[in-house]
Amino acid sequence: MKRISAGQFELTVVSGGTLRSDGGTMFGVIPKAMWSRVCPADDANRILMETNCLLVRTPESLGLIDTGYGDKLPEKVRRRGCLEDGAPLRRSLQAVGVAPDDIDWVILTHLHFDHAGGLTTRRDDGQLVPVFPSARHFVQKIEWEDALSGRPELAGAYTPDDFVPVQEAGLLNLVDGDQELFSGISVERTDGHTRGHQLVRLVSEDRTVVYVGDVSPMAAHVRTFWTMSYDQYPLTTRVTKPRILGAIADSRHIAVFPHDPRVAIARLERDDRTEFTVIPAE
Ligand SMILES: [Zn+2]
Repeated sequence: MKRISAGQFELTVVSGGTLRSDGGTMFGVIPKAMWSRVCPADDANRILMETNCLLVRTPESLGLIDTGYGDKLPEKVRRRGCLEDGAPLRRSLQAVGVAPDDIDWVILTHLHFDHAGGLTTRRDDGQLVPVFPSARHFVQKIEWEDALSGRPELAGAYTPDDFVPVQEAGLLNLVDGDQELFSGISVERTDGHTRGHQLVRLVSEDRTVVYVGDVSPMAAHVRTFWTMSYDQYPLTTRVTKPRILGAIADSRHIAVFPHDPRVAIARLERDDRTEFTVIPAE
């Protein structure tokens, strides 16, 4: 279990489940000869990934950033991506003594299945229900609109069953741009991976932790051109990522990577050759 204190906040990385994705897709234009040295591929060319969700305990509330892929995907899809059985996030929360009902708020970096799938589950009678019934759920307005737009160029990127039941239950809060949601907890729209993708900034006393989301899914993605083919606006990622990670390095803040199976929490230092050196902080 990876856990750090940041001022008054206690942060615990809780797994929303491991998976395997095609390594080429995860590194876009980077040749396999380069990426496979840092992320070894299996014989189906897939690399191991985590869904590192972050449990945030503040003096006032208990919250969660992202929710992994959940328990609704069909068996065929689960097998193809080596997804874990059952509900991995709920298992991880149970392991640290947290029940879904205890969660006061959930912030979604964006609504792709590996971040929002854990928001809902199907009851025995077939009805889809929110997993966190006492939580306010925060999503960028533009992300919500894109996810439900039915735009053909986004086909397959979003599964409304993951998030529409949250709105139907009256638990949805749409955020328009950068905003402080609670004392010391704010979101900033990054664009790039999706138009409505947001990072989460946690500030308490003199400590700042940035959940960077899919701006840099793994430690290997800190370099400008190491971006995913899943990015909807890859050139935007190439502009915003060096700025966001550069600010983290210069301010000696801490970054949380959502998909790295080894380094979830890290400090960054600028490096002339590799742009950034990643120093594990947990
Ligand atoms: Zn992702």
